Amino acid sequence: MTRTEKLLAELIALPSVNPAFAPQSLVGTARRTVRWEAELPPDARAARPYLFVGEKRMADFLASVAARAGLEVEFQKVLPGRSNVMARLLPRNKIRQTILLAPHLDTVGGDDSQFVPRRENGRLYGRGACDTKGSVAAMLTALCELANTKSRPQETEIVFAGLVDEENAQAGSRAFVGQASSLSPCFKKIRDRRDACPTALAIVGEPTRLQVVTAHKGSLWLQLETHGKAAHGATPQLGQNAVHEMARIVDLLETDYAARLRRHRHPLLGTATVNVGTIHGGAQPNIVPDRCVIAIDRRTLPGETEAGVRREITALLRAKRLSAKISSTKLAPCLPLETNPKLPLVRQFLRGVGQARPAGVDFFCDAAVLSRGGIPSVVFGPGDIAQAHTADEWISLDSLERGKNLLLNFLKSLP
Ligand SMILES: [Zn+2]
Repeated sequence: MTRTEKLLAELIALPSVNPAFAPQSLVGTARRTVRWEAELPPDARAARPYLFVGEKRMADFLASVAARAGLEVEFQKVLPGRSNVMARLLPRNKIRQTILLAPHLDTVGGDDSQFVPRRENGRLYGRGACDTKGSVAAMLTALCELANTKSRPQETEIVFAGLVDEENAQAGSRAFVGQASSLSPCFKKIRDRRDACPTALAIVGEPTRLQVVTAHKGSLWLQLETHGKAAHGATPQLGQNAVHEMARIVDLLETDYAARLRRHRHPLLGTATVNVGTIHGGAQPNIVPDRCVIAIDRRTLPGETEAGVRREITALLRAKRLSAKISSTKLAPCLPLETNPKLPLVRQFLRGVGQARPAGVDFFCDAAVLSRGGIPSVVFGPGDIAQAHTADEWISLDSLERGKNLLLNFLKSLP
């Protein structure tokens, strides 16, 4: 068993489910009082709380692994009981550039069996195996091994940053670059040095099948609300049916609007999309509904903004004489990512991985947040997103080890 695989198995056995995903079905199982109970959603408080405080245990565990390898360790408090963990390898000489290795610590939920790592046919099964404890294991192992080689960089600082809450609201990466309560001292140093070292690069760990990804779509969740006039079901002509109005809007979004989005194609990402995900309206058959609400997921391309999308939908509705109130349902926007593939460090990483052209992916991740914070970011990691969030999540052990080696070789090639 390699060091990377051993670390990954240990991480799978330390559940770190994002507290936002505590499912209703868990209510009623054994109650255990924990220090961080107050921050759990109400329906999770009585559930398996040990599952939902795991980001902290994982951060502590990674800190001890890093400290044993001689790395400098630092925590950044993000939310009660939830901290980013940073491990830094300093160069012998003056720092000229910084490389950030930034995977997330949290996972989506799973059943008990998924927190027991299982090896089978060259794969390691378990929650987080590919999303994204595989990247955590590959990145931290690469850094620990680098710390113990003679060929470590002389002028490049390398920082491993394990970030909390990527799967829900990206509070970890937002706090890291200072969009939340406190700015991490680690980022402050990177930012203060930016003029002197403009070439910092973040490699965000996600399962990309070891492809260097420079672009991903953003995600907007919008709520549309129609209003009518209630009346008795026996005299519908006296009312105004909000569900009927919404039915026309749903049809318009799924046909005309979707077709319009398909006309613009991004070279790495394809087209923007729209999906009507939920609909709620009406109380009972014999009342004309006076209100109907839908929630849509609009995946955006680089350059598109929330304000622009709202304007686009409002104009489309107006042209068809329809009207709805539009509001956003996300706490913070998930922006698209587009990093210039010609940046020297990105080119060097692409060369090191043996990839001729950068790739794009559909899914959103911390890279957009870090990039927005001023750190050029790419996404890279072992495993395939197709296995992420599934009931039998796994990672290929070959991909895991190759990922660690590609990262290690890239870090060794830095000045
Ligand atoms: Zn992920």
